[in-house]
Parts: sequence; structure tokens; C-alpha cells
Amino acid sequence: MAEKTGIMGGTFDPIHYGHLLAAEESRRQLGLDRIVFVPAGTPPHKTDRLITRGEDRYAMTLLATAGVRDFSVSRTEIDRKRPSHTVDTLREFLEQSARPCELFFITGLDALLGIETWADFMQLPTLCSLVTVTRPGYAVAGLQTLPEAIRRVLKLVEIPQFAISSTEIRARVRDGRGIRFLVPHLVEQYIEHRELYREPEVPRI
Ligand code: NAP
Repeated sequence: MAEKTGIMGGTFDPIHYGHLLAAEESRRQLGLDRIVFVPAGTPPHKTDRLITRGEDRYAMTLLATAGVRDFSVSRTEIDRKRPSHTVDTLREFLEQSARPCELFFITGLDALLGIETWADFMQLPTLCSLVTVTRPGYAVAGLQTLPEAIRRVLKLVEIPQFAISSTEIRARVRDGRGIRFLVPHLVEQYIEHRELYREPEVPRI
């Protein structure tokens, strides 16, 4: 039988308990065998601010998932020399998997709503199911406007408490407010040790 693999894509700047809960609930609700976190390397679409070095985001993702059964982290997008396109990542997973596998690409609603701007986006439904995490009753009206082929492979995973965001965490570090219990302890220590997020964010030109 094909191994059901959740590919958890995101910038993870930084990773937090919201991401971990989203991954775990997707795994549980969809009966996935494993979850692979794939921190984005050079996101082609991020124009608002400079993001943290890939190696730091990768290290934090590794620390957050260390020892968690069925969770792992892939360097594939971090190591890629060219911009990160999800379609390439999914093809790579399918080609390089030792066993037959069925892919479920998990990402945030905001990102998913922009899917029509992604490279070769109409290929995505041929490669994976698309999973997005919402709060119960949260307006998902925007999804109706997506092409039929995308909507056909869409799966919504509802999570009661899902309000943490990376933006909020970066702001809290910058303002000297704590981030305890918003991120795993080792991630909190890493942010402190590497002095991440202390400076005002720099717009990307
Ligand atoms: P992002 O900035 O990481 O996230 C957008 C929103 O979704 C944020 O609110 C974020 O919350 C949330 N989120 C991110 N990852 C999540 C996850 N796995 N589960 C639940 N919520 C999540 O998004 P992004 O960098 O735009 O892209 C997300 C994924 O889409 C990445 O894998 C990226 O490579 C892919 N993508 C591909 C293309 C392309 O192929 N051309 C273009 C755009 C995006 P936080 O801020 O708290 O993380």
C-alpha cells in the first residue's frame, strides 16, 4: 500500500506550536503515516521583508521536531540553488521515495489562496492532495473561487485553537515580550542564542 506522506511546507520563520499542532491534526484526521517538514529555501513570492537565513530556519524546525515520532525535516528546498517551487519539491519526493507514496501538501490558508500564482500550479492536483488548516467556522469563502481541479483535491482540517503566528512571535521577541510556550523550548533557546528577530524587519527590495 502507498505510504501516506504529509509534506508540511512553510517559511517557518520561526516554527511554532501552531505549525506542530497543524501537522499533528492533519496526520491524525487524514490518517497519514508520516509528516515531512519542508522549510522553504528562497521563496519566490516573499517580497515584504527579508527572511531569516535558511540554515537558521532549518535548525529551528529540526529542534522543534527532534524525537517526535513520524515527524522529520527535509533540506531539499534549503539546499536548492534556485527558487523554491512546490511542484519541483513534490516531484522530487515522488521520484526519490523508496516505496510508493501518496502526497498531501499541507500549508496555511493564506498561502493556498494564492496558489494560482505558483509555478505550474495546475500540475499540483496530479501530484498531491492539498491540505489547509482552519479554525472551525472560519470563513473559507475564498476557496470557492479556486479552479475546480484544485478544489477537487482540497482537504480542510479544522483545529479549535489555532491563533499563533510567526509574525506575532517575531514582534514579541523584538519588543522584549516572552515567547515561552508559543514555541518549543529548544527553539526559544536557539532564537535567544542566535539573537534572532531583535532588529526591526528589513523590507526586501
Ligand atoms: P508562509 O508565509 O509560511 O505562510 C502563510 C500563512 O500560512 C501564514 O499565516 C502562516 O502562518 C501559515 N502557515 C504556513 N505554513 C503552514 C502550515 N504548514 N500549516 C499551517 N499554517 C501554515 O507561506 P509561504 O511561505 O507563502 O508558503 C507556504 C508554502 O507554499 C511553502 O511551502 C512555499 O514554498 C509554498 N509556495 C510555493 C510557491 C511556488 O511554488 N511558486 C509559491 C508560494 C508558496 P505563520 O506565519 O505562523 O507561519
